Amino acid sequence: MKITHAYAAQDAKARLAPFEFQPRELRANDVLIEILFCGVCHSDLHQARNEWRNTVYPVVPGHEIVGRVAAVGTESVKYQIGDIVGVGCLVDSCRHCPGCQEGLEQYCENGFVGTYNGTDRFDGTTTYGGYSSQIVVHEDFVLRVPENLDLAGVAPLLCAGITTYSPLRHWKVGPGQKVGIVGLGGLGHMGVKLAHAMGAKVVLFTTSPSKVEDGKRLGADEVVISKDAEQMAQHANSFDFILNTVAAQHDLDQFTNLLKRDGTMTLVGVPEHSHPSPAVANLIFKRRAIAGSLIGGIAETQEMLDFCGKHGITSDIEMIDMNYINEAYERMLKSDVKYRFVIDIKSLNKQAA
Ligand code: NAP
Ligand code: ZN
Ligand code: ZN
Repeated sequence: MKITHAYAAQDAKARLAPFEFQPRELRANDVLIEILFCGVCHSDLHQARNEWRNTVYPVVPGHEIVGRVAAVGTESVKYQIGDIVGVGCLVDSCRHCPGCQEGLEQYCENGFVGTYNGTDRFDGTTTYGGYSSQIVVHEDFVLRVPENLDLAGVAPLLCAGITTYSPLRHWKVGPGQKVGIVGLGGLGHMGVKLAHAMGAKVVLFTTSPSKVEDGKRLGADEVVISKDAEQMAQHANSFDFILNTVAAQHDLDQFTNLLKRDGTMTLVGVPEHSHPSPAVANLIFKRRAIAGSLIGGIAETQEMLDFCGKHGITSDIEMIDMNYINEAYERMLKSDVKYRFVIDIKSLNKQAA
């Protein structure tokens, strides 16, 4: 098998730099994918810098992968050479626990195998992600990409798309509801597009006045600057559901205050430092809830891709070369990305040639 060219971080302080590794030989049900595009998720930055304190180095991030099938294992039946496919945050799970049996592999009770920084269940090696020229994945964890969508814009759907789609579906967002999306980054902008496509009235909360017009273009009916207490107060007690995508520690009470009785705010951001404890009276007096949600299972990820195909939804992206990744991380930290960086893997192959 050809060597894999990649970018890796060697420790929490290191810049990402070129790295090579030998991929595993194809197992019976594996698929070899030549990667075309890989989105840059804030989780990549958290993990490259060991902000979740569980990173195994070297780490090759990337879990928003779109590519072309280049080879299939002897018993692999789902995909053929040449198919355009996607890989998200999961590449395996135990397959038999209650979570797996319900198609909720992300909640596998024995621990799902992450696309990177995961541990392969068979050989114990650490998985490497999509900042690379190719990846080998069991066919059950490979997704079919709708033919009508721009492929670079599809890549972010594999994490940002499913991470927002899944809670919007779970909490049954739809027509007649007022839904808030907090933070207009990679996840948030997908949340706005998806909630709008599901028929809800969408209000975007942003800290960046420069994003107001974009918020509306992306599908928000209203945009609120969350630092403006007066604007916030106008929405008190009015939301059925709020999806909070913020990647940094912040005060949750300013948003729980905006929920109706029985409303829920679901957190998907995983900041390095925990949020201050929320005021319980805010919850108790209106039976409000704060919840969490983790990506989505394989079946739901396929459902989300098909939904996006039907509605013509992709991510708004800024395409970058592989060697721009360290600058991209710095800009992501300043909320300066509209609205997802996507690596053109051609640039990595050219660099390696
Ligand atoms: P991102 O592109 O960096 O977007 C985060 C947005 O949060 C920013 O654009 C900004 O929006 C807002 N923000 C940033 N700092 C803030 C602060 N101090 N106070 C208030 N708002 C702030 O990140 P992402 O890729 O969307 O990821 C968001 C978070 O979700 C990350 O923590 C990531 O690890 C996590 N994540 C979780 C899951 C899951 O399964 N639960 C999956 C993927 C990612 P404005 O400029 O509009 O304010
Ligand atoms: Zn992600
Ligand atoms: Zn399981």
